[in-house]
Amino acid sequence: MLSVTPIPAFSDNYIWLLRQDTSPEACVVDPGDAAPVIQALEQEGLSLGTILVTHHHHDHTGGLPELIERYSPEVIGPDNPAIAGLTQRVGQGDTCRVLGRRFDVHEVPGHTLDHIAFFTAGIPPLLFCGDTLFAGGCGRLFEGSPEQMYRSLQALAALPDDTLVFAAHEYTLANLRFAQEADPHNRDVADALAETQRARDHSRPTLPSQLAREKRINPFLRCADPDVRATASQHGNTETDQSTFATLRAWKDGF
Ligand SMILES: [Zn+2]
Repeated sequence: MLSVTPIPAFSDNYIWLLRQDTSPEACVVDPGDAAPVIQALEQEGLSLGTILVTHHHHDHTGGLPELIERYSPEVIGPDNPAIAGLTQRVGQGDTCRVLGRRFDVHEVPGHTLDHIAFFTAGIPPLLFCGDTLFAGGCGRLFEGSPEQMYRSLQALAALPDDTLVFAAHEYTLANLRFAQEADPHNRDVADALAETQRARDHSRPTLPSQLAREKRINPFLRCADPDVRATASQHGNTETDQSTFATLRAWKDGF
């Protein structure tokens, strides 16, 4: 059975550690720092067979040189020359095999232009989406346009409802505080905020989330909702779902 656990890094990153109970070979996603990964692998008696990279930002790639030097793993990531050490460059529609499972690659530009997400079908399906979709929110637009990010999020939202969403940051509490402003009559947001507050009070991770839940609480997936659109209209253009998304994203940047 495939299990996934978080390795905390920096102040709020999660490096996801994947392993099968039948093998000592592990995979990590977005190792921004090598030290906590090496510590986790040694503690569990694991070796590193594969690294998945979602985008070029340093807090997702900073650990690559040391981990490559130490373990010589397969390193699978987007076709961006800025990321050194990749052994397999992948894009939209490509697949790769990791720990005996097939992973599908989705290009999801917006946060960065090179951003990709890894999805594997199963019970439940798993999604590793870096800084694109967060619990209760989405990534900032550093390189892409709102249109690109809107389309990327719509593509992720089309995955199965029971997909577990493994995002790369513990931003849920701040995201849901914004969600409550953007979607003030939504009971699911209020419940998720209370649950998240309890988890963080005990330093528990609030990830993974589930895609069906995100569709109920994440304002960036709810741009067609009349309540969300009405609130967003006080902050900018809400003529279309896409312009509502752009308005929400700009509002959140200054929130
Ligand atoms: Zn990033």
